Amino acid sequence: MREITVPPTAGLPLQWADLLPWGAGDFAEQLATWLGVHRVQLECSGTSALMVALRSLKRLRPERNEVIAPAYTCPLVALAIAQCGLQLRLCDLRVDALDMDAACLHLLCSSKTLAVLSTHLCGRVADVDAALQCARDVGAYVIEDAAQALGARSNGMSVALKGDVGFFSLAVGKGLSTFEGGVLITRDAVLRDVLSAVGADTKFNLWWELRRSVELLGYAALYRPAGLRMAYGKPLEQALSRGNWVEAAGDDFDDFIPQHRLGAWRQAVGSKALRRLSAFQQQTAEQAKARVAQLRACGLEVLDDIAADSQGVWPVILLRLPSQKARDAALQAHWGDGSGLSLPFVHVLPDYGCYDHVLDAARRDDVSRARDWAQRLLAISNSPWLDDVRFARVLANIQAATQG
Ligand SMILES: *Cc1c(COP(=O)(O)O)cnc(C)c1O
Repeated sequence: MREITVPPTAGLPLQWADLLPWGAGDFAEQLATWLGVHRVQLECSGTSALMVALRSLKRLRPERNEVIAPAYTCPLVALAIAQCGLQLRLCDLRVDALDMDAACLHLLCSSKTLAVLSTHLCGRVADVDAALQCARDVGAYVIEDAAQALGARSNGMSVALKGDVGFFSLAVGKGLSTFEGGVLITRDAVLRDVLSAVGADTKFNLWWELRRSVELLGYAALYRPAGLRMAYGKPLEQALSRGNWVEAAGDDFDDFIPQHRLGAWRQAVGSKALRRLSAFQQQTAEQAKARVAQLRACGLEVLDDIAADSQGVWPVILLRLPSQKARDAALQAHWGDGSGLSLPFVHVLPDYGCYDHVLDAARRDDVSRARDWAQRLLAISNSPWLDDVRFARVLANIQAATQG
């Protein structure tokens, strides 16, 4: 019998009762309470939320046009910055952590800098204080990209609140999902008003809402052990058989970012699923804790939060292997067979080629350490559907690839 296809990240599965339109309550209010903030602003995607944030900051500082992001991040970030008419600059990474290098950031920051994107990659909590320090020196803002970190905390407080603005993604695979969705937060009352004024330009779009609603229904039906082979495993196998890693990792995005309202029914679905999110994240955190210990006992390098007072979330467990050869060998053994191995992103942004037209000046930024990370990172799904027996087999093969 064929084994189930494990999804690449630990997304919260939906239940049929989530799809009933009644008994939900106000999703934005519930999310605000869950996060411990006064108000959240809902958008149709994390990328759209980022665009609202960028346009808002641009209103306040119209003379500035550069946005600094880590060189290893979601290509949608580059597309969003370009669609707002801003210039991306790429910051190289630290050697010891998957976060921007403070010295590089300092060199990139100037009177042209509008914002620095401190990014909580794969649920690990970034050093927002370091980004704030560099940004404040030149009068720039900090946006926290917490797309992959809904539920992560730092010193008891949700991430995305230390910076000026923060956003979460409600896309498939990022935790709580309305198929696509985004959440904007800020603690600053002035910024909150500007975000809300800029967000008010976004209109409801029946075509997009119908499409996303059908996609959400499909997700509810297929994001289960029996459905994932068809919905995720098959297309993945096909992309890999064509040797197309960018497509296999889901890094192939259209230039155009749609912006519309997040419809009421999808909000109701999110609202009901949110009631199970804390318990699910506790379960996945415990699974991660045990598996991180197991991986470390085998001599493997596992990424954790840098600061002791941070508690990230665990959509995946991230490893840095000793070489690209070892990483590729481990991936070759298990990417296509549905055991839950994958890459957070395939390349640093300038190495995709297909995003060169939105990078422009950023193509000349030094990204050598980020490239080394991109070549050696490996993500193991932290979905509860990856059982202990199968995890042990994956672990044995990663070890063999590392030693071989
Ligand atoms: C997914 C992602 C985004 C964009 O979020 P969407 O909801 O998919 O538009 C932005 N930044 C990072 C780091 C991401 O992983």
